[in-house]
Amino acid sequence: MTNYLFQPPAPAVIPIFGSDKLYPVNRVFCVGRNYEAHAAEMGAVVDREAPFYFTKSPTTIIMAEGEIAYAPRTENYHYEMELVFALKSGGTDIAEADALSHIFGCAAGIDMTRRDLQNKAKETRRPWDTSKDVQQSAVVTPLRAMEEVPSVGAGRIHLEQNGEIKQDADLSQMVWSVPEIIADLSTMYTLCEGDVIFMGTPAGVGPVQRGDVLTGGVDGIADFELKIA
Ligand code: MN
Repeated sequence: MTNYLFQPPAPAVIPIFGSDKLYPVNRVFCVGRNYEAHAAEMGAVVDREAPFYFTKSPTTIIMAEGEIAYAPRTENYHYEMELVFALKSGGTDIAEADALSHIFGCAAGIDMTRRDLQNKAKETRRPWDTSKDVQQSAVVTPLRAMEEVPSVGAGRIHLEQNGEIKQDADLSQMVWSVPEIIADLSTMYTLCEGDVIFMGTPAGVGPVQRGDVLTGGVDGIADFELKIA
């Protein structure tokens, strides 16, 4: 037994459709501005030279079911519907051609964001951490094993707020594909099993209110319904 001062916390986990095993989360990477129409609604343009990233702590993972908390210290808490994938292996300088072989499975997710704090951070050239690394902000469905995923390059991705369609797009509209992101990210980090990647959101992001019901999903991967508490 290692002589820890106190018991280390258990890892964040994601359930798996059709399995009683749990996927333990190591890191959470998020892609920024990966749909042109969303970049435009944020007053930005897509950088075609290179994708960019931010991270969330694994402890921000929460299941897309039941209730999630409206975050404190924000008056503008936004949903961002995203494709999520989870690695079963990794490495450094992964070739695009090999990238998909490292994926265990995919989920639908929401990158909840304190938009007011993010806008302030952009204005003042400060980090995004308090706008993105928010408790209960990495919202995910269970993982669909890769063998059962129809495609990570095409398919409808959508989100409804109280039954009204707010985001409705196709994965084929992503600027950077899943293999391109794995290849690029692996030049900066040695990727490994347990790493989870949020692929960025299409247009139509907006604020939630307490009591809202959010539904949505990615076709062939997962659907969800949850309430903002
Ligand atoms: Mn996002």
